[in-house]
Amino acid sequence: MTVIPVLPAHVTISREPPHSPGVDALLDHSDALSAALYPPEFRFPADAAALSHPQARLLVARRDGLALGCVALLLQDGYGEIKRLIVAPEARGLGIGRALLEAVETTAAREGMPVLRLETGPGNARALDLYHAAGWVARPVFGAYTANPHSLFLEKCLPPKPTPPPAPAAGVAGGAPASSAAPGAIAASERLDAFMARANAAYYARADPFADFTTAPEIAQAFGELLGAWAAATWAAIGRPHPVLLVELGPGRGTLMADALRVLARVAPAFRAALRLHLVETSPRLRAEQAARLPTADPTWHDAVSDLPPGPMLLLANEFLDALPIRQLVRRDAVWMERHVADGRFEERPAAPLGIAAPEGEIVELGEAAQRLVATLAGRIAHQGGAALFLDYGAAGPAAGDSLQALRHGRPADPLADPGHADLTAHVDFAALAGAARAAGARSWGPVAQGDFLVRLGLHERTAALARCAPGQAAALHAAASRLINPEAMGTLFKALAIGRRSDGPPPGFDPPPGPAFPDTPASLDPVQAADAIDPVPPPDPAR
Ligand code: SAH
Repeated sequence: MTVIPVLPAHVTISREPPHSPGVDALLDHSDALSAALYPPEFRFPADAAALSHPQARLLVARRDGLALGCVALLLQDGYGEIKRLIVAPEARGLGIGRALLEAVETTAAREGMPVLRLETGPGNARALDLYHAAGWVARPVFGAYTANPHSLFLEKCLPPKPTPPPAPAAGVAGGAPASSAAPGAIAASERLDAFMARANAAYYARADPFADFTTAPEIAQAFGELLGAWAAATWAAIGRPHPVLLVELGPGRGTLMADALRVLARVAPAFRAALRLHLVETSPRLRAEQAARLPTADPTWHDAVSDLPPGPMLLLANEFLDALPIRQLVRRDAVWMERHVADGRFEERPAAPLGIAAPEGEIVELGEAAQRLVATLAGRIAHQGGAALFLDYGAAGPAAGDSLQALRHGRPADPLADPGHADLTAHVDFAALAGAARAAGARSWGPVAQGDFLVRLGLHERTAALARCAPGQAAALHAAASRLINPEAMGTLFKALAIGRRSDGPPPGFDPPPGPAFPDTPASLDPVQAADAIDPVPPPDPAR
């Protein structure tokens, strides 16, 4: 019997048979909750027969003999499935759900399960928060379920059963595990996501990334200006909270934000006065560049999204998610193998089943870090208000194939050679991110092609206005705008995805046919776009 003490005192969690005292009442409560949220054809409770199956484990939380909550674990072929996680109404808020989840994860790991999965629905925000806080991520449909609007599928990889450490090789001092390697140092062998995280942290800390690649804000000032206008219009649509956090993830040189704030001071002074600028950036070198570009903006820097202060926020992130680590699984002999990196080469190790059939040699990428980040932001926006806009490159739906790439001195390089000296990126899986946002209780819009998005916000009108201000730069301004929207350049591969509260309407650029965020059709914009929006800010540096 597993007995795990949890808070509050005197609560224990034990494995019990299905009809132990009080369990039927908990299951009735679970049925009632589910009936209130989902149509009958989309409820999939584990029934008495499933819970009595030899491959089922039922854990019950009790205090003084009273059943306060329960959860069932079904041992499936290659994975564990969680069903029936329920806490009695009178025991809510005591941490019992979290303790049951931890207990069932521990039980599944002890049973040798590499991964846990579950089906839930978008209606139970409290449960979704719990799963996301515990590190669960969205995944495709699995088992006998079919994809439907009332189901969300989540999973969590479990640590392997502990194995005794290998004896250190003769003559090798230490034999330190990857986790204790010095920051920036690349361990002898590690999973691709650990390798990528470490290599990129080293790269952004030491290098000038803009010697290796350029980005939309560096190409055209209208990009940052339009994103500033997007934030202002969205702020007005959500009720003009004051103060409000304006957050940028990975601001690079600070160019996007400098362009946005310059235009906001004229176009949306009320938003400019309400906003408090927060920048999430790990590179000390780039923080210094951002400070130099934003001398009067008084930003606060953070290492991670989890450090942001509470409150409603407008968040912008351009080419940030593509730098986050990915995993890669390869189909070999009808099973999935996971790519690790050792001595500058890939090696493959057995992986948990993905529940997806694929042709031999196919590579599937999992962007779990990006999904976790989006889920965290979405949960926060669902509760505290706001919206987030992500611009990045990748397919709209799930796409197989290896998208890991390295850029060094502006040219493709071997991603595994010389870690820390090249920028490692991978395509963003927009469908998975949208799913993660919805599973965390928020709403998502898009992705829409970057070209369509920018044109809807008024890129043509803004570029024409800038060109009128600086006729000598007109050709360069139009060429830069074309690069952002042309399908052969950045217009189609790059996409925009927005997340917001379920009760909010689509933000600008996501609800065709909206008008431009910039003038010539000022009525199309929200009240933030006052008449002075028509007066273009002169281009300080029109042809970057
Ligand atoms: N948004 C900018 C820069 C994109 S490059 C632009 O469009 O020009 C990626 C940026 O994200 C850099 O500023 C880099 O230092 C930052 N970054 C990369 N990984 C990060 C991480 N894990 N946490 C915080 N910042 C990160």
